[in-house]
Amino acid sequence: MIYKGVIERYREFLPVSSKTPVITMYEGNTPLLRAVNLERRLGLQSIELYLKCEGFNPTGSFKDRGMTVAVSKAVEEGAKAVMCASTGNTSASAAAYSSRSGLKCIVLIPEGAIALGKLSQAMIHNAEVVAVRGNFDTALNLAREICEKYPVTLVNSINPYRIEGQKTASFEIVDSLGRFPDYQFMPVGNAGNITAYWKGYKEYQKVKHSDCLPKMMGFQASGSAPIVLGKPIKNPETIATAIRIGNPASWKKAVEARDESGGVIDTVTDKEIITAYKLIAGTEGIFVEPASASSVAGLLKYVKKGYFSEIKSKETVTVVCILTGHGLKDPDRAIKSVRMPKVVSANLKSVLKVIRL
Ligand SMILES: *Cc1c(COP(=O)(O)O)cnc(C)c1O
Repeated sequence: MIYKGVIERYREFLPVSSKTPVITMYEGNTPLLRAVNLERRLGLQSIELYLKCEGFNPTGSFKDRGMTVAVSKAVEEGAKAVMCASTGNTSASAAAYSSRSGLKCIVLIPEGAIALGKLSQAMIHNAEVVAVRGNFDTALNLAREICEKYPVTLVNSINPYRIEGQKTASFEIVDSLGRFPDYQFMPVGNAGNITAYWKGYKEYQKVKHSDCLPKMMGFQASGSAPIVLGKPIKNPETIATAIRIGNPASWKKAVEARDESGGVIDTVTDKEIITAYKLIAGTEGIFVEPASASSVAGLLKYVKKGYFSEIKSKETVTVVCILTGHGLKDPDRAIKSVRMPKVVSANLKSVLKVIRL
């Protein structure tokens, strides 16, 4: 059967009917790759590590899973326009799905704080992009207010259809593995995604009659870790712009996911994020954006802390790290994290001297 996106694949779990016009770009069905090199690097024989490569979605992030449902429902409900506040990927996805559906798309971004790749996506898909002098949280408040007063559909993750679509990633993980993972490491920003995964796992547990659910291990950047600190942050800071959020919309749900699953929500520093970012690219060939690397940064931190030391030598545990977005979204960060190419004269001797074969 030809793959036709998350709505067709998981229709019975989603709030759609035969009347819903499906706006899709065949999102989802992303690779779950075994990370043998990283396993070796972690030095634990007992961990079977998988990477869920969400950067392989049509616009380069997991946001497409939620957007296909949110935009399809907006069309079904007769909307003329959708709107979002965004650190970048939501706007890229909203703009792409809107252009495909014929809806107008309005995007509020925090001025100067979104990666160039994401901005270029929103713009080329004809969204009305407005840069607000303020951070993400301010932009989201404005978007919410506008959508309350005008006939515009908000497609941030407070739109429940977004969460519904995003939960399909947990179904895919279970379908690929043939079982539930033991641990899931992932970034936490506005906290919609951890909410969606946990909802998905719980729903699938009922269908699959499984008694196993993963522990949800969420990671915020240490300069923008409101859930860890227990209070909103006025001026969140981190190089991982996709999780630079001071007052997460799904805060309560994220805490529920953590507590019900017996997991944690913790911090990783920007330095730890960059180390993991380079490690994923350099050992597994997967180029992710900085925010995505906080899942692996979190895993490294917890391995170092001895979190897994109680696993008996014969047991193995299955760990999935969610790689939320593609590295090409933020090429500036890659360039800043490595040495620039050496420039040499155009002759064999000069090239050979540098490449040291
Ligand atoms: C949106 C996003 C996140 C954060 O997800 P939340 O649902 O806001 O917690 C992390 N990484 C990337 C690449 C994203 O686009």
